[in-house]
Amino acid sequence: MEAIARGGNPSSVHRDGRRARALLDDAREAVAGLVGARPRQIVFTSGGTEANNLALRGCGRARLLVSAVEHPSVLQVRDDGVTIPVDADGCLDLVALERLLAETDEPALVSVMAANNETGVIQPIAEVIELAHRHGALVHSDAVQAAGKITGAWAEADLVTLSAHKFGGLQGAGALVVGNGGAITAQARGGGQELGYRAGTEALPAIAAFGAAAREVGGDDVEQLGLWRDTLEDSMKLAVPGAEVLGGKAGRLPNTLALAHPAIDAETMVMSFDLQGISISAGSACSSGKMAASHVAQAMGRSDLARRAVRLSLGWSTTRADCERAAEVWSIVHARHANTSHAA
Ligand code: PLP
Repeated sequence: MEAIARGGNPSSVHRDGRRARALLDDAREAVAGLVGARPRQIVFTSGGTEANNLALRGCGRARLLVSAVEHPSVLQVRDDGVTIPVDADGCLDLVALERLLAETDEPALVSVMAANNETGVIQPIAEVIELAHRHGALVHSDAVQAAGKITGAWAEADLVTLSAHKFGGLQGAGALVVGNGGAITAQARGGGQELGYRAGTEALPAIAAFGAAAREVGGDDVEQLGLWRDTLEDSMKLAVPGAEVLGGKAGRLPNTLALAHPAIDAETMVMSFDLQGISISAGSACSSGKMAASHVAQAMGRSDLARRAVRLSLGWSTTRADCERAAEVWSIVHARHANTSHAA
C-alpha cells in the first residue's frame, strides 16, 4: 500500500510480500531445526516474555502448576498458579509434582523451565513430561536459557519458549513451539499471521536474525564456555573461603555462575565489578533497575544467600582474559572488604 501511495509499482508490493514470506519461511525452518520441530510448529513472537504469556494464557488449561524458580514472565502471568517446590540444589521436587497432579482430575498445564536464568540449574524435563502426561497434563518449558547451549527433553515439551537474543540473535524476536500435544488460542487477535496463533505483522529483521543465529549456534563454543566457567568458579572459590555456588551440586548450563560472597552483599559486588568495567547481575530484578532478593535462592531454602548471590554469565564474545579479569576483580573486592573489616 505504501508503495502505491508513493506512486510505486503495485507489482513491487507483491515482490516485497513474497520476499518477506520467503525470509519468514527460511527463519521458521532454521528455528524448527534447532529444536527438532516442524516449521509449522513455530509461532514467532516478540520474545520469550510474549511466548510465555501466550503459552500460559492460551493453553486452555484452567489448572496451572509452575515451578518456584520460573522467570517472572511465567510467574507473574496468572494469579492462579500453584507452586511446585524445588530442592536445595534448585532441582524440581518430582514427588511434590506428582502429588499436585494427583490432587484433582482437572487437566493441568505444568510449566517448568529447561534451565534457570540465575543459577543455570537444568531441570529434569523428561521426568516432568512423563509424570504430567500420565496425569493428562500438558507441559510448557521455558527454554530461553537452554536453547543453543544444551540439548534435552525440553524440546519434546508440548509448548516450548525460545528467545533470539539469548543465543546471538537480535532483541525483539522469540517463538513458542507448539508441539504435537499442544494447542493454543491466540491472545493477540485481528490478523491471520502465524497460522492465526499470533496476529500482527512479524518483526522481519529480528526474525531473520533469529533464523541465522539458530543455524550458527552451539558446537565447540559452548564447550569452551563451560571450561572457562569451571576455571572461573574454581579460582573464585579458592580466593574466598566460604563463597557458595548456588546449585553447585546440580547439572548446570555451561555459561552461568551464581555465587554468594560470605559477607559482601550483591549490590556492593555489582557496583564494584561495574567500576572495573565488568557487568554482573544480582538476583533477577535488574530489568526493573532495582535490586531485589533472589526469589530463586529463596525457593532453594537459601534466603540467607538471597541478597548476596551475584550472577556471572559468559556470552559468545567472552574471552579467557575476561574470565581471568573477573576472578581478579573478585579477589580485589574481597581483599578490600577484609582490610576494612579488620581496620574497623
Ligand atoms: N525466560 C527466561 C528464563 C529468561 O531468562 C528471560 C530473559 O532473560 C525471559 C524468559 C524473557 O525473554 P525476553 O527477554 O526475550 O522477553
